[in-house]
Amino acid sequence: MKTLQALTRRNMTQLYDRSKIQLPTRKLLINNEWVDSVSGQELIANDPYFERAITTVQRASKEDARLAIKSARKAFDQGHYPRMSPKSRANLLLKLADLIEKNIDDLAALESLNNGKTFSDARNGDLPMVVNLFRYYGGLAEKIHGKTIPIMGGHFCFTREEPVGVCGLITPWNYPLVIAAMKLGPALAAGCTTILKPAEQTPLSSLRLGELILEAGFPEGVVNILSGFGDVGDALVTHPEVDKISFTGSTEVGRQILAKNGHPNIKRITLELGGKSANIILDDADIESALLLAHAGVFGNQGQSCNAGTRVYVHSKIYDEFVERSVKLAKERVLGDPFSAETTQGPQINAVQQKKIHEYIKSGIEQNAKLLTGKNLYEGKGYFVNPAVFVDVNEKMKIAQEEIFGPVMSILRFDNDAEVIQRANSSHYGLAAGVFGKDFGRVNRIAKALRAGSVYINCYDVFQHATPFGGFKDSGIGRELGKHGLIPYLETKTVVFKE
Ligand code: ADP
Repeated sequence: MKTLQALTRRNMTQLYDRSKIQLPTRKLLINNEWVDSVSGQELIANDPYFERAITTVQRASKEDARLAIKSARKAFDQGHYPRMSPKSRANLLLKLADLIEKNIDDLAALESLNNGKTFSDARNGDLPMVVNLFRYYGGLAEKIHGKTIPIMGGHFCFTREEPVGVCGLITPWNYPLVIAAMKLGPALAAGCTTILKPAEQTPLSSLRLGELILEAGFPEGVVNILSGFGDVGDALVTHPEVDKISFTGSTEVGRQILAKNGHPNIKRITLELGGKSANIILDDADIESALLLAHAGVFGNQGQSCNAGTRVYVHSKIYDEFVERSVKLAKERVLGDPFSAETTQGPQINAVQQKKIHEYIKSGIEQNAKLLTGKNLYEGKGYFVNPAVFVDVNEKMKIAQEEIFGPVMSILRFDNDAEVIQRANSSHYGLAAGVFGKDFGRVNRIAKALRAGSVYINCYDVFQHATPFGGFKDSGIGRELGKHGLIPYLETKTVVFKE
């Protein structure tokens, strides 16, 4: 495998010149103004490739959360935005999409710099989806309407779809802008006002988005942005004047949010949490495409995707070939500078995650799974993890039960469909699943039996602006993306007239 050290000795093609990256405003966005935090505290935004600080940004606390909520509350209760014509809201969202598209390279560079994902993934994957999301929800903003309902004689009944109110939008670090857009798009289309709380590790792209939101002309208080830690998220979750929380992150924090709900007020809650998705490769699958897509389904984004297909179930008839070729693909991954064209795998987000993944790899070995590649733990500069492939894995092992959030594939052998369905469903998670096979009836029966929010057939991780996404079981509550993604930001009001 080409290592980082080997690559840096060569003159690599840079896809974007790091020295040209423009950093965004480093403040909090409250009521359309960039302000310092009340405490004056800052947090450090890091570059996980060089293991160094990029810059510091203002760090919000509970006090700042209060000010942002006050601004969003006023904008919702008295402001123009929830009352303006749907056409005007649509125009603002479409303008924002245009501005993002105009600045697409710079935004992708910022995302790659702060997160460690490859520039090509950010530029060709994340950012086009962000543009599509704002366009899609811009289009939907004008198509939100109720129904007329026939009821008992002498009465006329109709429904109105109204914005839910002030929304706290809490995002993780793995897809900072995509997930911000998944929440802001529908919230703003519905006419809500918002407080966006990006993950403490990756504030930069959300701050740049804030600049573009101002440039697009959103009225004051409609989008507030607070860089900060979990205490700021908690301040949103526990404040009586926030009507809704949309959270993407760990199942652990998701549970805490649910446990706190109802005190003081009952909030509408959407949770998109962890996963341990099964990807089933049947004996009649097109092995070439199953191999490549199962590989990408684990190792894409450094394995830091909640829907990663990390439990790969392979039918015994094709098991040996599949294992051998999967190991070869893993060995061919090129670890290196996220900005170079040759790199296919950047660093993990930080030292904490790198260590956690290394611990999982050790636990797999201790529990007698067989590690076919990735034995040497990465020790060079940058928070890299060597791609790992385990075989002889069973569902009792930690590596098959818990979300690793890193480049670690577990391959499990199976013999028949009933067995694999039962084993795939044995996880407490239920975010996604995959099935590869040529017999449509068989594949469809399996897809139907899988307890997961998304099932990909002969493909994996087809995650687009219009595809509803969310979890069964401990993977979450509610759906994001597509028309379904709008529902959590609306309240249905039933109006009955006596004729
Ligand atoms: P991860 O383990 O991937 O970092 P977390 O669930 O800890 O995921 O974090 C996801 C987001 O939730 C981040 O923006 C983080 O700051 C925020 N967060 C962390 N703890 C809390 C909490 N107790 N309440 C609300 N938000 C929180």
